[in-house]
Amino acid sequence: MGEIYSIVNQKGGVGKTTSAVSMAAILGKRGNKTLLVDLDPQANATSGLGLLDHRFTYTVYDALIHSVEASKAIYPTVIEHLSILAASKDLAGAEIELVSEFNRERFLERSLAPIKDQFDYILIDCPPSLGLLTINALTASDWVIIPVQAEYYALEGLARLTQTIDMVKKALNPQLQIRGIMITMHDKRVGLSRQVEDEARGYFKEKVFQTVIPRNVKLSEAPSFGEPITIYDKKSKGAKAYKSIVKEIFL
Ligand code: ATP
Ligand code: MG
Repeated sequence: MGEIYSIVNQKGGVGKTTSAVSMAAILGKRGNKTLLVDLDPQANATSGLGLLDHRFTYTVYDALIHSVEASKAIYPTVIEHLSILAASKDLAGAEIELVSEFNRERFLERSLAPIKDQFDYILIDCPPSLGLLTINALTASDWVIIPVQAEYYALEGLARLTQTIDMVKKALNPQLQIRGIMITMHDKRVGLSRQVEDEARGYFKEKVFQTVIPRNVKLSEAPSFGEPITIYDKKSKGAKAYKSIVKEIFL
């Protein structure tokens, strides 16, 4: 049975895409049949795997809006066992196009349903908002992973996020659960990083993953080479941290 995970935080630049791409690459390399869904019009997960939208006949936009079968919009990546449902710029229009639709929250759920069980894991990289795309991701998911950057105001906005998750759970998807909170870009030499970690652990308790993702320059360089960290520098601290968190999350 395929499990669907949304990587969500409406705050921008907290490490959603880096986490989605890195974990998807590690899962694929481990031999798990994995699908990365790029649900962000910025298409950073797509380009992070060295793929550009013009290579695709169909993208997640077509699957969502034009009822193109998801199976026709899935493409292989450089990593064995890892496929992608890519994003394209026209996805930016999808939020507006969905507004007037009946059951507008369920479009992604419907398009993923027929392919769900062809995969062990489906990871959805969400845009930095709580708009209809993110609601579609939450409605389609079994689990939510929340990356939190070890920075000022890190925990701000999490109340609204957890309220939104509760709302989706009540109204649309009773299955949905928070798998955990992932602390990203942590620098153990910096007091503020430790403080954010302590605060998160104090408040969210065991929901915060044991593994913390360090700030690591290799992780920030990898996307500009269009390579996941497992290829760009598999021995880097960043790669090791994501391997460790994958072990923690995906048993
Ligand atoms: P957005 O909300 O715009 O989609 P995001 O939450 O997906 O952003 P990322 O794109 O993953 O965040 O990361 C933001 C920036 O921080 C990127 O430039 C990325 O390369 C960098 N970055 C992410 N994680 C790390 C890390 N652990 N160490 C160093 N740099 C990182
Ligand atoms: Mg992103």
